[in-house]
Amino acid sequence: MQEKIKNLLTLFNDTFGAKSIVVALSDFFVNNFGINSLDIYIYDDTTKSLRDFSKNWVYIEEICDKNMAASLYTHFNLLKDRVYMEDKKILYYGLYKSQKLIGMLRMDVSFIDTENLINFLDISAYIISLKIQNVILSDKMQKNVEFHDSMKNIAKIIETQYELSYIIPLIGEMIDKFVSNHLIYIFLRDEETENYNLCWPNSCRDDKILGLLSILTPNSDCIMTADKKTGLFPLVTEGKLIGCVVAKSTDGKLNEKEVEYIEQLTNQAATTIDRANVYAEILKHATLDALTGFYNRRQLEERIKQEVAGAKRKNNNLCAIMIDIDFFKNVNDTYGHAVGDLVLKTVAHIIKAQLREYDIAGRYGGEEFTVLLPFTKLEDAQSVAERLRKAVERKSVDISKVVPDTLNKNINVTISLGVYQLQSSDEDVDLLQKADNALYQAKSDGRNKVVVYDIQ
Ligand code: GH3
Ligand code: MG
Ligand code: MG
Repeated sequence: MQEKIKNLLTLFNDTFGAKSIVVALSDFFVNNFGINSLDIYIYDDTTKSLRDFSKNWVYIEEICDKNMAASLYTHFNLLKDRVYMEDKKILYYGLYKSQKLIGMLRMDVSFIDTENLINFLDISAYIISLKIQNVILSDKMQKNVEFHDSMKNIAKIIETQYELSYIIPLIGEMIDKFVSNHLIYIFLRDEETENYNLCWPNSCRDDKILGLLSILTPNSDCIMTADKKTGLFPLVTEGKLIGCVVAKSTDGKLNEKEVEYIEQLTNQAATTIDRANVYAEILKHATLDALTGFYNRRQLEERIKQEVAGAKRKNNNLCAIMIDIDFFKNVNDTYGHAVGDLVLKTVAHIIKAQLREYDIAGRYGGEEFTVLLPFTKLEDAQSVAERLRKAVERKSVDISKVVPDTLNKNINVTISLGVYQLQSSDEDVDLLQKADNALYQAKSDGRNKVVVYDIQ
């Protein structure tokens, strides 16, 4: 007996962590007493329920054939009992910490004489219980340390990262790490449509979640479903509801500690996401023209440099089209600037709709647009230009929303276009200058025309 106790103590000295203690104890009792299996049930103070320590902390009541454990725990607790035999096969042994029942060992003892085993347990239960408490405590502390590390990491991300596509997966993974047996989803809310878009991970098979999201308001705290298996954690910053983190159980309920973790991480995440949104907005305004959504002049010039360099290096075709709205001044003078703006927007829209994804459209100035067509021969660019000209000519602009009491509900405008293909001897500036020359020609030829720059 003394030898066995010594072995047990040595074993404990060399074992750390919940998983290894379960394996070590199991092996010890199987080898020394011939039992068939060992489970360890521990009462969890945070969730106020009995959990299976041997199997990654699953809840006892969810394992049907082991319901016995739950009722036995109550029984032990009332009677301060320590041993119970079920059908002469299963032995339950209570683990106490100064009179308080903290859990039970469950052993399959079929075909063995239990007297020796119980004697041994009477002596060693105290140290087994102590070791398990130690392990649980250090696991919790480890988790706390990791949690604080993560909070620090998130704080760092806030300071240094602005790209949503980078931030969201990081946040998702961090939350995931702290909540085992739960699927984590991050939804962002589109301010205009009020729809929620899933941003992490790539898919969510549960349609019910989207339905749940509709009940959120900027004043919502964390919302748990009645079965405590799904939690909604709204992402709110400065009174704005910008999205939601959802934790959905694949197993147990969310406990208080996990809810607290996710809430803190969600609050941090909301600030980070909001900053990234603000940054994206600033970036957009710095590169795009506010009225048309096209590249602004500065950005356009940047892109021209890149495209010209690329085309020259790889010997690719590159064409440019300069576009100018005909008699645009008349539109402003007759209907006012608001209508002028609407016409500009509409023409930009028509142009965009006719282009391929990798074509580049910029607002060169006032009512002049530039289109860059990479990988495009002159003849093809000419037909794109012709297509643009026809599309604008066909389209009537409804101006009644801007000037409700106008006699002319619809107005039509036309555009003139100059086309040029980059030559190997050209400088950056030549591309637009020569397209512009052709445009000038189109204007003098009577407008609503496409002219190709004549190289000869
Ligand atoms: P043409 O076809 O010969 O070029 O005639 P045009 O009337 O287009 O002549 P011009 O280029 O001189 O006139 C362009 C006008 O575009 C002048 C300016 O008031 C107007 N404009 C420039 N930018 C804007 C804008 O952002 N909004 C509005 N509404 N008008 C603008
Ligand atoms: Mg002009
Ligand atoms: Mg004009």
